[in-house]
Amino acid sequence: MIKKRIFCLGLSLALLFSSIITTPAAIKAGSYFKIQYTHNKKTYSKKAIDARYNNKIIKTNMPGFIDGSTSLYSAYWVFGRCSSLGTKYSYSGKKNRVTLKRGSNTIVMTLNSKTATLNGKKFTLPAAPRKIRYVAKKKNYIMVPGDIVAKKLGLNYSWNNRLLSGLISKKSGSSNNSSQTPATPPASTGSYTKITASESNYSIRIKKPSGLNASSITSNDDYWNKRMQIIINGDYRSHFSSAANRTIRESLTYSVSYSGGKTYINLKTSSIKGFSIVQTSSYIYVKYAAPKSMFHRVIVVDAGHGGKDSGATGFGYAEKNMTLSIVQSMKASFDKNNTYKVYYTRLSDWYPSLSYRYKMANEVNADRFLSVHINSADNKSAKGTETLYKTYKTYAQTIQNSALTGMGYTSSSSYNRKLKYRDDLAVLNGPKMTTALVEMGFISNQTEASRINSRTTTIGANLYQAICNSF
Ligand SMILES: [Zn+2]
Repeated sequence: MIKKRIFCLGLSLALLFSSIITTPAAIKAGSYFKIQYTHNKKTYSKKAIDARYNNKIIKTNMPGFIDGSTSLYSAYWVFGRCSSLGTKYSYSGKKNRVTLKRGSNTIVMTLNSKTATLNGKKFTLPAAPRKIRYVAKKKNYIMVPGDIVAKKLGLNYSWNNRLLSGLISKKSGSSNNSSQTPATPPASTGSYTKITASESNYSIRIKKPSGLNASSITSNDDYWNKRMQIIINGDYRSHFSSAANRTIRESLTYSVSYSGGKTYINLKTSSIKGFSIVQTSSYIYVKYAAPKSMFHRVIVVDAGHGGKDSGATGFGYAEKNMTLSIVQSMKASFDKNNTYKVYYTRLSDWYPSLSYRYKMANEVNADRFLSVHINSADNKSAKGTETLYKTYKTYAQTIQNSALTGMGYTSSSSYNRKLKYRDDLAVLNGPKMTTALVEMGFISNQTEASRINSRTTTIGANLYQAICNSF
């Protein structure tokens, strides 16, 4: 397949010739290349990732890569040379300072520091900008975190794991007129939405008080309480309580509260909804829809037990804590993948009833459900991993394979307890979608209990992969 590439800005002839002579062909996303962090001289092999503007790959001499959980891109090649983005790049080697401008927004970053400023106001970057050596090219590039930089500059950014690309686009409804503040979404807790709130398509429009900075507004998808919260730094109760400052087109219950120096706008709906939130200089636009029409894939992940219900216990471990750690690790992976919207039955130590768990899955009409458990037996030598299923054997097998990998067991070993048919379990009977329950291992077996406890991150990453692979 031939990939379309856009050539951002005309290359000067001299540069074109020099790049023909000195640089290897651009590497494809997914292939590995060697880099060196210049601040500590550490060398790594990294998987190349792309940045795309309007779905076309932005051509660069320096591929992006992932540092921890942050996508880093060449500030010059992605934000400096791609004129379509409307961004301007400058770098001061003396001050180690990177400046990016778009319209009225200016970001100033310092190499090796997570502290940056947007229009003079400090904010924290998820990863420090770095000077990185592309070993094969013997050249250094200034790399910056793509997601936050794009968003702070008023662009849309989302990660697409299939394309190994950060997708950058302009906000709908924002014009090229740089004197207008471009629409920006509040720091998002959700995934890439199929429907985007706009001036013409919204469920509720809320007028902003004048002078309120876009970055003072964030959101929190509190689906456990069937509500979206818009959170504003400062006390704006009187402004947001005034009915004159909102237009509701699609039914919801609107309320305003204040705590810890923040104003909360609570948008309560009759059932769990997916939300898109976009703000312009004057308004916050919120659109809600059924999760399935809002998101590409909807998943429900259930950490077994919780709160008053410890589940099985042994050797100082409790099943409820282990399942939660595993699910937290799954969340860390899902959070990096915008294709999926994941609802978690719990992300803390409380007890959702069994019916709460599968009702949540049915309410959001999920594509997949997975319940995570740890086994226990009177026989202290019982060991191994099994997956319980009722109808969806193929899915259960996918989960079982990854669960074994996560535990570090081979499928041919006696640790593979394989699939078990069960027709008496609420989380297999209740969900109206593809569902399975995995028992990672035995808490009653001391070796296995400590093995699970030390591998929750790996287990979570593998279960995440299993769910992705099941599509
Ligand atoms: Zn259990």
